[in-house]
Amino acid sequence: MNEMFKNALPVLKRLEDEGYRAYFVGGCVRDLLLDRPIKDIDIASSARPKDVQEIFPKTIPVGIEHGTVIVRHESVSYEVTTFRKEDEYKDYRRPSKVWFVDDLKEDLSRRDFTFNAMAMDISFQLIDHFGGRDDLERKQIRTVGDPNLRFSEDPLRIMRACRFMSVFNMAIERKTEQAIKEKACLLSRISTERIAIEFIKLLQGEQAGSVLKFMQERSVLNHLPTKLQEKQSDLYKDFDWNALESDEQRWTAILLLSDVSDDRAFLKSWKLPNHMIKKVEKLMSAYGIISWRKMDLYRCGLETAISSITLKSAIEKKDNAEEIAQLKQRYREIPIKSRKDIPLDGQDIIEITQREPGIWLGKLLEEMEKKIVEGELALNSTALQDWVKRWEP
Ligand code: ATP
Ligand code: MG
Repeated sequence: MNEMFKNALPVLKRLEDEGYRAYFVGGCVRDLLLDRPIKDIDIASSARPKDVQEIFPKTIPVGIEHGTVIVRHESVSYEVTTFRKEDEYKDYRRPSKVWFVDDLKEDLSRRDFTFNAMAMDISFQLIDHFGGRDDLERKQIRTVGDPNLRFSEDPLRIMRACRFMSVFNMAIERKTEQAIKEKACLLSRISTERIAIEFIKLLQGEQAGSVLKFMQERSVLNHLPTKLQEKQSDLYKDFDWNALESDEQRWTAILLLSDVSDDRAFLKSWKLPNHMIKKVEKLMSAYGIISWRKMDLYRCGLETAISSITLKSAIEKKDNAEEIAQLKQRYREIPIKSRKDIPLDGQDIIEITQREPGIWLGKLLEEMEKKIVEGELALNSTALQDWVKRWEP
């Protein structure tokens, strides 16, 4: 039995002992059937939030109005959500109203895709009202109910469908596909942050390239926070997305392959956090370096340099092991990794030279640093002091 499910069992059992029904639901059931790593265990129950809070000693009320309480059990968090249904999505961001219901099937029917609408009881019996297991076997993505309606209710599901195509290497059922094309324009009503979360998960998936092409052909890419257009046809499809190792590499790849006039404005339009924007900008400028001299390597750092090589070989679809090995060797040869590694600091230099502090000091330090990095000046106090004494502004 899967460890995570086993560890969660006492929580479900406790709910049942108290006279409520409780099931494993959603992503965890899907991932178990797919034999993929399980991220977290979600539980659906007939118990109302206040009941859950009374039953368990450690709870966190994360979304009581939507029926969700976190139960802490043996240092693991479980989201326990009351069976619910939602009425129409008025602002496209969150359900305008949530109703608690007594029926598991009703709860499952509001879920997006058939494979996300399965449940499992405490004896690991699968409850599958909408043919989710069949769809998993056929590797097919299909909405629960009429896809046009389901995408109109919540257009984010369009992005989720694309994300699942990429991550699970699945195809899309014909009517669901048709509805994606028809409803893609509704994505403009969804918050940028929610789209960005699905988009980056999509780029992490093994089929990112072909799914981007799919999205282009069904004009989904036109309705993202900033319209995405590749610089030349098939760039997205031919790019080796699986070679990438981080989200900053993925965003940089999007910039490199797309027709973008202002990188900063583009990244901001996706509401990416500032630390991510900075990393992407750094990687973009590293990407421009063709041959890595020691000083470039010292300034950028080894990690960014390797990232830029990774991106280049993902575009050219060639192996980069040799190039990275050389880069690492060259980096090892640099005697210092930052200014802090220089045995003399500003104060020492002022004492040696007996000069008044001024802009000359910055210039001297910079020159000294460069000479050390390039191996023209030995990294020992005597040599450095001699050099400082002889230094002319
Ligand atoms: P992940 O592996 O990223 O956690 P997930 O499918 O579990 O994927 P969650 O956002 O954790 O995604 O959602 C949990 C469950 O809630 C889903 O499996 C699905 O049943 C339901 N769900 C999530 N988002 C939606 C949505 N936009 N519309 C309908 N149901 C949804
Ligand atoms: Mg989940």
